[in-house]
Amino acid sequence: MSLPVGEYRCSGCSFVQPTVHQSITLRYVLEDGRYGTGYRRAGWCKVCNAVVDVEWLPDAADVQSELAEAERTILGTTLEQMLKRFGRDPSSAQRRAARHAEKHKGTLAWLAQRRSRPRCLKCGTEQDATPELESSGELRHSCGGVLEEVQPEARAEMRVSVVPMRRVMSVEGRVLRTERDDDKWLE
Ligand SMILES: [Zn+2]
Ligand SMILES: [Zn+2]
Repeated sequence: MSLPVGEYRCSGCSFVQPTVHQSITLRYVLEDGRYGTGYRRAGWCKVCNAVVDVEWLPDAADVQSELAEAERTILGTTLEQMLKRFGRDPSSAQRRAARHAEKHKGTLAWLAQRRSRPRCLKCGTEQDATPELESSGELRHSCGGVLEEVQPEARAEMRVSVVPMRRVMSVEGRVLRTERDDDKWLE
């Protein structure tokens, strides 16, 4: 697996930072030993003084509705529509839905236990605000300018090889260990 290299540039100053979107899964170890899957976004960390990956805590209601959707598929209610759309056989669609349902249940259990705000995945500092890169398209630099991700000509041919990795975390977002994510291709 290889990924293109891009960079963030600031509209307000000369700040430039190279970037690679690595494949990283966040897995939270819950109090009862089960796992919860978490998510991340790009954000500006004042402590790191850089664009970093920041934990993203999804809205429990959204996860709940995705879980309900997966459960309907397992029961076969939405199976017919799915098969028409993707041309998959029922058993594989159901197995996939079952994996998704497990993942959503873990995420809900994690969200119920989580107390702190999203943390920078580099230095662990809690962030003041949820970064909105994906939803609003805006990521602010400390100078107030907007950080935009570009794919400069000079880097167009540059690609880096990456192995999907998994960070095993505490409920509150402390990294316990990092390991290869061999389940990545099942999703
Ligand atoms: Zn700036
Ligand atoms: Zn940081």
